[in-house]
Amino acid sequence: MGKIRVLPEVVASQVAAGEVVERPASVIKELLENSLDAGARRIEVEVRGAGTGLLRVTDDGSGMDREYALMGLERHATSKIATAADLAAVRTMGFRGEALPSIASVSEFCLRTRPGDEPAGTEVVVRGGKLGAVRDAGCAPGTTVEVKSLFFNVPARRKFLRSAATETAHLDRVVETAALAFPAVAFHYVRDARTVHRLPAAAGPGPRVADLYGAESRDELLEVGPASSHGLSVTGLISRPGVTRADRSRQFFFVNGRAVENGFISAGVREAYRQMLEPGRHPSIFLHIAMDPQAVDCNVHPAKREVRFRNGPAVREAVRAALEGALREARAEWLRPVLAQVAARAVPPQEPSAPRAAVSVHQPELRKAAAGPESRPAEMVSPPAADTAAAPHRPTAEFRLIGALSRRYLLLEGAEGLVLLDQRAAHQRILFERLQRGVEGRAVAAQRLLLPAVFDLPPREHEAVRENLAVLASAGFSVEAFGGRSLKVEALPDFLAGRDPRRVMEDFAAECLAGRGARAGGGLDADAARRAVARLAVDDAGARDEREQKALVAQLLACELRDWDRDGAAVMLQFSWRELEWIFGRS
Ligand code: ADP
Ligand code: MG
Repeated sequence: MGKIRVLPEVVASQVAAGEVVERPASVIKELLENSLDAGARRIEVEVRGAGTGLLRVTDDGSGMDREYALMGLERHATSKIATAADLAAVRTMGFRGEALPSIASVSEFCLRTRPGDEPAGTEVVVRGGKLGAVRDAGCAPGTTVEVKSLFFNVPARRKFLRSAATETAHLDRVVETAALAFPAVAFHYVRDARTVHRLPAAAGPGPRVADLYGAESRDELLEVGPASSHGLSVTGLISRPGVTRADRSRQFFFVNGRAVENGFISAGVREAYRQMLEPGRHPSIFLHIAMDPQAVDCNVHPAKREVRFRNGPAVREAVRAALEGALREARAEWLRPVLAQVAARAVPPQEPSAPRAAVSVHQPELRKAAAGPESRPAEMVSPPAADTAAAPHRPTAEFRLIGALSRRYLLLEGAEGLVLLDQRAAHQRILFERLQRGVEGRAVAAQRLLLPAVFDLPPREHEAVRENLAVLASAGFSVEAFGGRSLKVEALPDFLAGRDPRRVMEDFAAECLAGRGARAGGGLDADAARRAVARLAVDDAGARDEREQKALVAQLLACELRDWDRDGAAVMLQFSWRELEWIFGRS
């Protein structure tokens, strides 16, 4: 062991560079942050050779005079914080004073900069951390940092770089992220002499998303907020229910302009979308959270990617509330075409049809249907009291059953407006939640078969059943899978009693395979398997009498989530009086 000694500056910078400058994209990230901190309105990014050839960022920000520029290249030289107290309330992207010296220590580095009020600029050249020329330069106000031959003097680091495609993807992502964080700043991104993005200054996240990903992508998004709660403000754009992606590549979270990853934020998002999302599907999210800089610690990760909140649960709650608000508002709008379809199907065929204009037939038809059986007694349907307390977000506890629409749907009048309920979806939803509760202890009743059924299934189907034996058992099935392809069924859950066990298992396997197909690989999670079971239940809505219809509504009201099924398919649509007024026009 050698003596402890103070490292020479260049070595220390290279060590720091190991943390700050992981790859070409980290250089661009740091340079962009500096430009943004310098108040740039226009930023140009140019890269060549996946970043190992050239990395250059030019801005029209405040610029630096000579003395200042040379200082900026020293370790821990920062103009952004002066005291430890400042560190507790960082308002800038950078604050450690490490980026410039770190980058300069592992590259051929050139800084050209000029403050707006100076007649000439300065050029500073650094190679592998050694200061080279410092001279006057004719340049526009602002700053250009040019980085060539990144890692030329740290071959180990260079070896760790991934393929050009991967490094390029990281570069693209960093530019995209900055552009989304600061819509008001114009960006021009050039890669290998070709323009990738030319983004004019935008009025907000909406137009910026449209410029980056196209107008259709923008149209799939809802606006969130600005929603203020818990001392922070949340704004942005999120996917409409039902619009999802296979990965999280369109999820961006910004805290005071800084792109972050944080468990509390993702938890808030998950809670807001709850079961609207299929397993393995993700919404697009561009979310800006503004908060007191004192309430967030940015100094917990070398690349400043993670943050720690003073009050994480408050952030989660604010995110959830903001997203839920937007999703709720969107719901009515999203459902309107569904209503039109349902209403079109609801035209009672036996009704003496007075001649009427072909256009605008749907909505008056619905009014007629809704107002139809007025003679029915106005009995109220209430959910069982015990379960009511447990279910959150319950807007209305009571509904009056108006009647059945086209056999399958029920029409209800609630305190807030009209409700349309799909009996089949309701039935399956109720079963699904019953199966979920089954795991938590309450038994699901099973019917034993008189004789066990033994049969073969094709390999894929057999495997789908075998993979989900635990869920099937908790759902009241008694199934054994033997080697080869055979199955033995000894009991079915009560709601499938009397069905052909072989058909039931075939249908279950088909549901599983279909569910899995949507997700590219991997088995089903327990809830998905339970949903597959619930979907096996056939529902003869037409055979329900009024008493049974009410029982169905009551059971649905006792459900945890009664108006949304998986992926946004509606079990129950609610139209507020205001929406109805809007649909029919005020008169
Ligand atoms: P930090 O951003 O943490 O302060 P850096 O090493 O990234 O540290 O930058 C050091 C200093 O150089 C900054 O504090 C800033 O004053 C100055 N600087 C860096 N880049 C620019 C730029 N593009 N425009 C103006 N000043 C800059
Ligand atoms: Mg910086």
